[in-house]
Amino acid sequence: MATDISKTAIDTLDFGTEHNHSLCINEALQLAKQVCEQGGERFTDLRQQVFELVWAEHKPVKAYDLMSDLASKRSGVAPATVYRTLDFLQAQGLVHKLESLNAYLGCAHPQKEHQGHFLICEGCEEVRELEFAAFSQSVRKVEKEQRFKVKQMTVELFGLCNRCQQENPPSN
Ligand SMILES: [Zn+2]
Ligand SMILES: [Zn+2]
Ligand SMILES: [Zn+2]
Repeated sequence: MATDISKTAIDTLDFGTEHNHSLCINEALQLAKQVCEQGGERFTDLRQQVFELVWAEHKPVKAYDLMSDLASKRSGVAPATVYRTLDFLQAQGLVHKLESLNAYLGCAHPQKEHQGHFLICEGCEEVRELEFAAFSQSVRKVEKEQRFKVKQMTVELFGLCNRCQQENPPSN
């Protein structure tokens, strides 16, 4: 599998852009199926349903909300099963967990080994995943200088997207 990923529609999507989100979901689903197939894992109905719920919007989803949404689709799924499913999706790189929000977000590039770098809008709650290449390079440099092995370099940047800035201009 190539490590260089061509940009998907989501990469160029501004926050709050009206778009046919079912295309995003379809694209994500196809990638998820490929990833599972290549890893010899089964993309079961439950895994797919949980995955689709995480992808319902470009917003992080909390496990608790996901469980109540799931309950409307199928009954009798124990919370532990949902958490196991989320763990599975996370381990496959299909979803990211945003630690500061304790919520999950679908990944548009599951085939590419990467650390999650996120822009999180506090206004509309949408999140975009970007690769901050300069940041990664700085970390590599620090690793070298300090002879320190970084295992995790997730970046969660909170703020207001362009649209929310225009809707809520600073009061002073
Ligand atoms: Zn979308
Ligand atoms: Zn990702
Ligand atoms: Zn916003």
